[in-house]
Amino acid sequence: MTKEEIIRKHKQYLFPAVTNYYTEPLVADHASGQHLWDIDGKKYLDFFGGILTVSVGHLNPRVNDKVKAQLTKLNHTSTIYPNETIVALAEKIANITPGKISQSFFTNSGTEANELAVQLARLHSGNFEVVALRHAYSGRSQMAQGLTGQHTWRKSLIGGQAGVVHALNPYCYRCPLNMTYPSCDVACAQDVDAVIQTTTSGSVAAFFAETIQGAGGFIVPPKEYFKIAFNIVKKYGGLFIADEVQTAWGRTGKHWWGIEHWEVTPDIITSAKGIANGAPIAVTATTPEIAASFKGITFSTFGGNPVSNVAAKATIELIEEDHLMENADVVGRYFRAGLEELKEKHPLIGDVRGMGLMQALELVRDRRTKEIAPQETNQFMDESRKRGLLVGKGGMMGNVIRIAPMLNTSKAEVDEALKIMDESLAAVAARSAVAAK
Ligand code: PMP
Repeated sequence: MTKEEIIRKHKQYLFPAVTNYYTEPLVADHASGQHLWDIDGKKYLDFFGGILTVSVGHLNPRVNDKVKAQLTKLNHTSTIYPNETIVALAEKIANITPGKISQSFFTNSGTEANELAVQLARLHSGNFEVVALRHAYSGRSQMAQGLTGQHTWRKSLIGGQAGVVHALNPYCYRCPLNMTYPSCDVACAQDVDAVIQTTTSGSVAAFFAETIQGAGGFIVPPKEYFKIAFNIVKKYGGLFIADEVQTAWGRTGKHWWGIEHWEVTPDIITSAKGIANGAPIAVTATTPEIAASFKGITFSTFGGNPVSNVAAKATIELIEEDHLMENADVVGRYFRAGLEELKEKHPLIGDVRGMGLMQALELVRDRRTKEIAPQETNQFMDESRKRGLLVGKGGMMGNVIRIAPMLNTSKAEVDEALKIMDESLAAVAARSAVAAK
């Protein structure tokens, strides 16, 4: 098919809600390592990895060779027969999960992993209500959209979702309480208590939070936040569920799980995305005690299929063998320093934030008023694409550039990306200057 045919058929045969990045959609053709090529043969440095999912490079042969071998051995069984791939992956995960978390249930998407986590918390606690956070993104099902705290992603949630309340999120750059860290004493965390007292029955099933809010624009809570929230939810009989769909598998540097940076052990962890370098698989992991609360029997037709299991285990082993958590830390810090330099130079950047190889720029028209710059964000996307760099965007108001290079990205590739970002920011500023005349 030609590019035009693909774009036309996309409009004709897919739901219109499936939006694409860029003014002119980028029709992807093939990829390898840190690069992706479009249908016109243009090569891009991929610093978004299919939304933090291609974690160790496109088509990494050390993952794909094992996938190919599995495809010729056992492709599908469903969970009704035990097989080596599912137990080997579950054992691997048990060895790297914090605290007593050692049992997994595999599904196909982050949405399903979150759905199960909430269900488990309700079964285990005997309570119904859940505290989620504003600006969260948790997935597409009724429950997951209900956990989501962004209007854009809730528009199709007709009737809302009973039993979910939203606390203020720890968004320091735009503090919901107009305070400043650290003199605020992390007052936002006390809203978890306030929201339970004022909007629930007084007993909750869970506090549910992303470690770093992903689609919300890589919002990183202060280091005291989760300990405070954890103690509050325990007081009201609930579990702490960490949504690690974006932040797991070494993404934040040094540790397997983002939450480890906050020195709190969750009761349930959910993850998907980067676990298998692009193969569809998600996990809900918890302690044997909590897992035993699931009543009756359950299964998933595709969840934990042999091919995805092999891809996941190979990806995790590769991250381990190549010390990619350390690389995410070292290269992440290097990248962050470069982004801070860009901030010195470009007034459009209001905030730089993130952890490891998960970094963001919040773009504003005026640093003093923090007026959002969604149009400029789109222009930046187009300008950086033109120069051969792929990044993501997000933030509830569409003014955050999200950057998530693969875990095996080098400093040289970061230099290349920073140069393109520098030029692109200058180009956006030039466009605004022309528009202002
Ligand atoms: N939780 C978080 C934090 C996410 O970022 C996402 C996806 N962007 C999901 C859940 C849902 O995952 P999926 O799209 O695989 O259903």
